[in-house]
Amino acid sequence: MASLFPITVFAAALLCFPALGHGWGSDGHYIVCEIAQEKINDAASDAVNKLLPDYAKNNLSTLCSWADDVWFIFPWSSELHYINVPDNSCSYNYSRDCKDPNGVQGRCASGAITNYTTQLLSYGDSSNTSKYNLTQALLFLSHFVGDIHQPLHVSHASDEGGNLIDVRWYRKETELHQVWDSAIIDTAKIDFYDSDVANYIETLKNNISGIWSKQISTWQSCSGNEIACPDIYASESISAACEWAYKGVTNGSVLEDAYFDSRLPIVDLRLAQAGVRLAAILNRIFG
Ligand SMILES: [Zn+2]
Repeated sequence: MASLFPITVFAAALLCFPALGHGWGSDGHYIVCEIAQEKINDAASDAVNKLLPDYAKNNLSTLCSWADDVWFIFPWSSELHYINVPDNSCSYNYSRDCKDPNGVQGRCASGAITNYTTQLLSYGDSSNTSKYNLTQALLFLSHFVGDIHQPLHVSHASDEGGNLIDVRWYRKETELHQVWDSAIIDTAKIDFYDSDVANYIETLKNNISGIWSKQISTWQSCSGNEIACPDIYASESISAACEWAYKGVTNGSVLEDAYFDSRLPIVDLRLAQAGVRLAAILNRIFG
């Protein structure tokens, strides 16, 4: 049985600190892990079940937002949820961009995905079992693969990934970052899916086996023998941030149907890609 830390601490943590915009909202991360869970092979499924704590009941999705709930217990993890790109750039460069505010190289979402992938490769290797907490590695990896696909998690530092851009989402005052973390997903859920995230997930799964099916092998593949290729995911995100998230938006913008209708397909695509890629990474790690 896997352990994280005492469940009382975990429960208290959940009660005291709601998620503070460290990634897709809880629905977004849930969707990503639900898609992934269905696509992992038997070996990966067996390892995931062994690593998950009992109270997860063999369901990775229930803990997909765990990393957003523990950043205050692990303050060093805060910078691992995103990547800052210079304001004048719409492209990502690992050596330039993957560092924390103190300039420590590798401390960003991309570096974290590589790090936790490497840790998980020691699964089953008895000499390494005491070196890492592989349960935490699994939960961090599953979460950061989601985050790196949210376009505004690979975006400009000066506006904190849209957190400093105040907008109205229909009648509600919010920030651009929140629109992409959760508002677009919430509106889609209400408008198209009877307020039930399971219906949303079903539609994305149908698209994965339908209209997107020819792209799946491209989404899954990395060059050479790489297990994960987070720099590709990051490059796609900053592109989408410039082309779709930031485009036409300034402080005080009112975002309604025109923005929702044109951006929802991007959100759907990024959620699906994250889920498919998380499964591919877990299959390569444990398969
Ligand atoms: Zn996050």
